[in-house]
Amino acid sequence: MSEQKTCAKCDEDTVIYREYEGRGLCQEHFSIDVNKTVKKTIRKNDMVNSGDTIAVGLSGGKDSAVMLQQLVEIFGDRPDIDIKAVAVHEGIDPYRNESIGAARELCEEMDVELHVGKYEDYYDLRMENVVDNLEKSNCTYCGIMRRDLLNKLSREVGADSIAIGHNLDDEAQAIMMNHIKGDMKRMARVSGGDQVDHQKFVKRIKPLKDMMEKEIALYSKIHDLGVIDRCPHVEEGSLRPMVKSFLNKLESQMPGIKHSIVSQGRDISTLVAENMEFNEKENQLRECERCGEPCSSKVCRKCQLLEEVEKAKED
Ligand code: SF4
Repeated sequence: MSEQKTCAKCDEDTVIYREYEGRGLCQEHFSIDVNKTVKKTIRKNDMVNSGDTIAVGLSGGKDSAVMLQQLVEIFGDRPDIDIKAVAVHEGIDPYRNESIGAARELCEEMDVELHVGKYEDYYDLRMENVVDNLEKSNCTYCGIMRRDLLNKLSREVGADSIAIGHNLDDEAQAIMMNHIKGDMKRMARVSGGDQVDHQKFVKRIKPLKDMMEKEIALYSKIHDLGVIDRCPHVEEGSLRPMVKSFLNKLESQMPGIKHSIVSQGRDISTLVAENMEFNEKENQLRECERCGEPCSSKVCRKCQLLEEVEKAKED
């Protein structure tokens, strides 16, 4: 199919041709469309209500920067909705200093308060001091701690929800990985978006979950929104990069396949969630006997991993 050079909505040149829709859009209409998609996702999933304080998880990267910009555009003039930003410093320099600097600049531009939490202050740990001695991959430890700290920071700023920059590609990858691993518990969570029932657990919302990663990248480029270098200690495990590359190849041969996978995955997730007895119990959390944070076992995963990190420090 030959690419359309003129926008489907006006006479301007296109900045994107969506094969899955069979149409091209100019910069202005692409930007309008992104905003419409995000609004629709928020409305359809009942993500934001009057009186809410939303904590936006910022990394300095393109997804979270676009998410903040969109939330400010959609709710910035609403006196009944408060938007705050939260960011985590893992103790990886200069990478994280630079990205927090970018996040700070963005927040100043958008007139949004930024709250930064450091692993050093909460866990007495800098990731860069332990990365070479860990038993599991760096991101296993770091990712669990970040999730824990984002939840704590969101509570500290009085948030009703935390917005995570999870996109359609992330969701398609998660669905495929759950299938491959046969992980029904995680599959059941896809449609409910990780919601669990505990007063210390801040509800997670994903306003970009219907946006493709490459479209977020294009939008961030057009609007000059935060792009940062990759963390030097990234270790994602082997399955996700393979699934990501497989899905990208599939999408190039069969445009729209990622949308189909996500749509079917959400339907399957709803069915699994309705039919699994464990679901209600799974979503009821208790408090970790060490740190008091919500978890499903006696000691939370973060405390277990911190114990491993302490051992690694001693070795
Ligand atoms: Fe942490 Fe991995 Fe992210 Fe680096 S890439 S900040 S190690 S989770």
